Amino acid sequence: MTWPATVITLYPEMFPGPLGLSLAGRAMGEGVWSLEAVQLRDFATDKHRSVDDTPAGGGPGMVLRADVLAAAIDAVRATRPDAPVLAMTPRGRPLTQARVRELAAGAGVTLLCGRFEGFDERIFAARDVEEVSIGDYVLSGGETAALVLLDACVRLLPGVMGAPSSGEQESHEAGLLEHPHYTRPAVWDGRAIPEVLRSGDHAKIAAWRTAEAEADTRLRRPDLWERYVSARVKSPSGARRENKDEEA
Ligand code: SAM
Repeated sequence: MTWPATVITLYPEMFPGPLGLSLAGRAMGEGVWSLEAVQLRDFATDKHRSVDDTPAGGGPGMVLRADVLAAAIDAVRATRPDAPVLAMTPRGRPLTQARVRELAAGAGVTLLCGRFEGFDERIFAARDVEEVSIGDYVLSGGETAALVLLDACVRLLPGVMGAPSSGEQESHEAGLLEHPHYTRPAVWDGRAIPEVLRSGDHAKIAAWRTAEAEADTRLRRPDLWERYVSARVKSPSGARRENKDEEA
């Protein structure tokens, strides 16, 4: 079954962009997912095809009009009623791997890309739109955020990644950052690959990787580490499972 993505944007020519290449591009060619970019301006009703207006209360910039956004959302929902509608906005809930997994397992997505100062606030409640941020910084438009979200979802669709297990140990899947990787040459720039990785002892390698993942998470992301540890304290025997459930 094809996982359908629809992007409502003032710049449809920005899609599929990088998602037309590599894993995502191949998967699109094979019909694993589809992408339709819808021009927001097509839903304007005046002769200038206006999609924005000045902010109520004054201030700089322009705001995307709720009536135009609603018309675009309604038109897409008529053909994709089950796909959740997500607006890209720095005011939204930070995107997580857990949410990405849910979206990838669902009926596709419809993404709204902002421009200028963003969206008229009334659209979110009026059309049941989820607000999503891809990080604590400000982009010039929602298109790059939509590409990020789609990339994260598409790589999880069945058959897109080479080995089915290749995603399981990755950063954020079990509440930890992934362990570090090395490849040949065995010594480079005077730096050797950790001896254990050349031992051929799979149990030792697995233990080393877990220890490295935990140490790196503790040092680099104390916020993730705290969540991981508290899940482990709650259920010492099921720590890993519980973390997965929280993430899933
Ligand atoms: N005035 C807005 C604010 O301060 O929250 C920023 C608007 S930004 C210049 C224009 C558009 O880029 C936003 O409407 C949104 O679609 C997108 N955007 C910017 N930063 C983003 C982020 N961190 N995550 C998701 N979308 C973002």
